Amino acid sequence: MRIPVIAGNWKLFKTIGESVALVDDLKPLVANIHGVEIVVAPVFTALSRVCDVVKGSNVLLAAQDCYWEEEGAFTGEVAPRLLKDAGCSHVIIGHSERRQYFGETDLSVNKKTKAAIAAGLTAIVCVGELLADREAGQTFSVIEAQIQGGLAGLEANSLRHVIVAYEPVWAIGTGKTASDAQAQEVHAFIRQLIVSLFNQSVADAVRILYGGSVKPDNVKGLMSQPDIDGALVGGASLKAESFAAIVGFDS
Ligand code: PEP
Repeated sequence: MRIPVIAGNWKLFKTIGESVALVDDLKPLVANIHGVEIVVAPVFTALSRVCDVVKGSNVLLAAQDCYWEEEGAFTGEVAPRLLKDAGCSHVIIGHSERRQYFGETDLSVNKKTKAAIAAGLTAIVCVGELLADREAGQTFSVIEAQIQGGLAGLEANSLRHVIVAYEPVWAIGTGKTASDAQAQEVHAFIRQLIVSLFNQSVADAVRILYGGSVKPDNVKGLMSQPDIDGALVGGASLKAESFAAIVGFDS
């Protein structure tokens, strides 16, 4: 049994006060939802304050990125152990916006993933093809390279601390969701890939989230697919009501 994960990526939105207000509104709306791992990822500056608010609730905290070194002369970076210190249990790594705008590569994703796991965090490792890749029939080869590169050298045991997020880049923030069948096809491919890179039991246990314009009205169909174990949600996570409705997909 894989416990579903619904994670909200707040991207570069919300002040500390607005972040605290959002989780304050969210907590009572999801308090009675059991059997779903609920994660929110505010900006770095809000993490510690949001941590105080979610403490003792069923809402977990993620950062949106990390660096791979523990400390040193790396101006502007944040180490996984500092995220842990700020109250995070999860960290998003390799989001397509970081790949597109900040030069994230499969190698840096791999280093960050290893460092996050070593610090005791769960890494939400993002992969996804561009529209041009899909149109060129290269979706599977792109995903394969990202998974192989991002998870290279990890022990099978470590995969317990990895969540994969499949986010077709053409579906992020565009209002265009992959169809249930399109998403399922890639999720099944990723699971098979994990069988070949690790083993069947690792692949059976790993959670694979779908991301890309997930909304309250499309989450049910996506979640009914056998290899879709949750959602990474951008826009719809910025309002407590819509995020709570997604978290409550099963109610
Ligand atoms: C995301 O930021 O990971 C995302 C999927 O965004 P949206 O839900 O807005 O498409």
